[in-house]
Amino acid sequence: MPTVPQFIAGEFVQSCSSKWMDVTNPATNDVIAQVPCATSDEMRQAIDNAGEVFKSWKETPVSERARVMMRYQALLKSHHDEIAETLSQETGKTFEDARGDVWRGIEVVEHAANVATLMMGETVENVARDVDTHSWTQPLGVCAGITPFNFPAMIPLWMFPMAIACGNTFVLKPSEQDPLTPMRLAELFDQAGAPKGVLQVVHGAREQVDTLLTDPSIRAISFVGSVPVGQYIYETGTRHMKRVQSFAGAKNHMVIMPDADKQQVLNALVGASVGAAGQRCMAISVAVFVGAAQQWIPELKDAMATVRPGAWNDPGASYGPLISAEARERVESLIATGESQGATLLLDGRGCTVDGLPEGHWVGPTLFGDVTPDMEIYREEVFGPVLSCMNADSLGDAIELINNSPYGNGTAIFTNHGGVARRFQHDIEVGQVGVNVPIPVPLPFFSFTGWKGSFYGDQHAYGKQAVRFYTETKTVTSRWFSTEASRSDANFSIQLR
Ligand code: NAD
Repeated sequence: MPTVPQFIAGEFVQSCSSKWMDVTNPATNDVIAQVPCATSDEMRQAIDNAGEVFKSWKETPVSERARVMMRYQALLKSHHDEIAETLSQETGKTFEDARGDVWRGIEVVEHAANVATLMMGETVENVARDVDTHSWTQPLGVCAGITPFNFPAMIPLWMFPMAIACGNTFVLKPSEQDPLTPMRLAELFDQAGAPKGVLQVVHGAREQVDTLLTDPSIRAISFVGSVPVGQYIYETGTRHMKRVQSFAGAKNHMVIMPDADKQQVLNALVGASVGAAGQRCMAISVAVFVGAAQQWIPELKDAMATVRPGAWNDPGASYGPLISAEARERVESLIATGESQGATLLLDGRGCTVDGLPEGHWVGPTLFGDVTPDMEIYREEVFGPVLSCMNADSLGDAIELINNSPYGNGTAIFTNHGGVARRFQHDIEVGQVGVNVPIPVPLPFFSFTGWKGSFYGDQHAYGKQAVRFYTETKTVTSRWFSTEASRSDANFSIQLR
């Protein structure tokens, strides 16, 4: 059985751990590798080496750091298909979707290559006579990242390229469910000429994460994952005086106005609800039909019924399996709850099979009508190919429903009315809004800006905010005596300028 190495002090090394976890192919349920839970010595070595290497990396000129990212993005592009194939094996994603996962990460590396302009500070001349002030952004030190299973390329690439380009070193703990893709990203980073020890990759679960959250030499923690773990990470990391950004779960609503383009609405809803088997934090899981738009639900049902899951390399498959048997059981039991709590089950994806892959964790497209806010199927993040339809009498009612949700990751409105779209954008309490765009994930020159229970912290991922998160601002005020007038006697009170 292949084992997954760790990347410690610049070497790909086998763990000495006695605790190992299975990595499976979710389409076949075959164990394809084993991943260790790093020992405390291995964690210590990774963190200490990252601290040691920081001393020289922070002195490396910014253009040299940027050049590592330029070489890295080129290498990622030349290995794009190969990384996507590995990603498909351990997540079950279709090949095209796996390529998209890698691509969205590559775009962040391109952005990280612009780090010099992103790190520019501010300057004002003559804040007092002969006195000037400028600010610099300087790296923090050792930063750490903890990533989820659902984007094993994109989400690690949200984190370490930006942190490292800013002059930090980084310890990554990827999801134990699909660690092969992040390891390939680390190998290519090494091949891109990144100095040894700038990136470390350790494996494990809660115990290893706790070490990262509590170790005094780690300055900042980036986390992406579920709500309970996200809250735990934020509370524990900040209690240990670290800077923390914690991206958590979601429940994303799409509002459909009766004046919208019907075919675009149907296409958007099908793709955004069941794509990646619904295992996206920006998936649309609730469709809110305003007024007469609810007449389109039968056509939505017909459109969803034509979609099927399948193998990663099956061109007819729209999406793959759920990540594990437990995930499928959880989604199927939420579907049962929806039915028992009174929602109308229009399409039932339970018991789904795929020819030739009897052990895969398949769930077919599932559609509920008449969902209400008290139902578990509405309150819980299902994280499966399940779409709940709700009705609203007016735009105001739809906005109120969404603003009452504890989550605030993404939302969308489909309409042809500019004023309606304007009001929605302005009034909605959600951090990423699409107008006739179902999954409005911002490109890397913006930031990924979830709100409310979908994000704990203040500076978000990538864009300018990532640079603020991974750096400290130093403000320097200097006086050079160019004239006699700027010399002063001893001052005992604050001078009025
Ligand atoms: P998860 O919370 O189970 O795991 C995420 C990471 O935390 C993994 O590396 C895991 O090993 C670690 N972990 C798990 N339990 C832990 C514990 N008790 N203590 C410390 N660490 C622990 O999440 P997942 O199932 O891998 O990913 C799916 C979740 O991620 C969904 O809720 C999804 O919405 C969310 N997500 C959010 C975003 C976003 O940007 N908001 C993006 C992608 C995924």
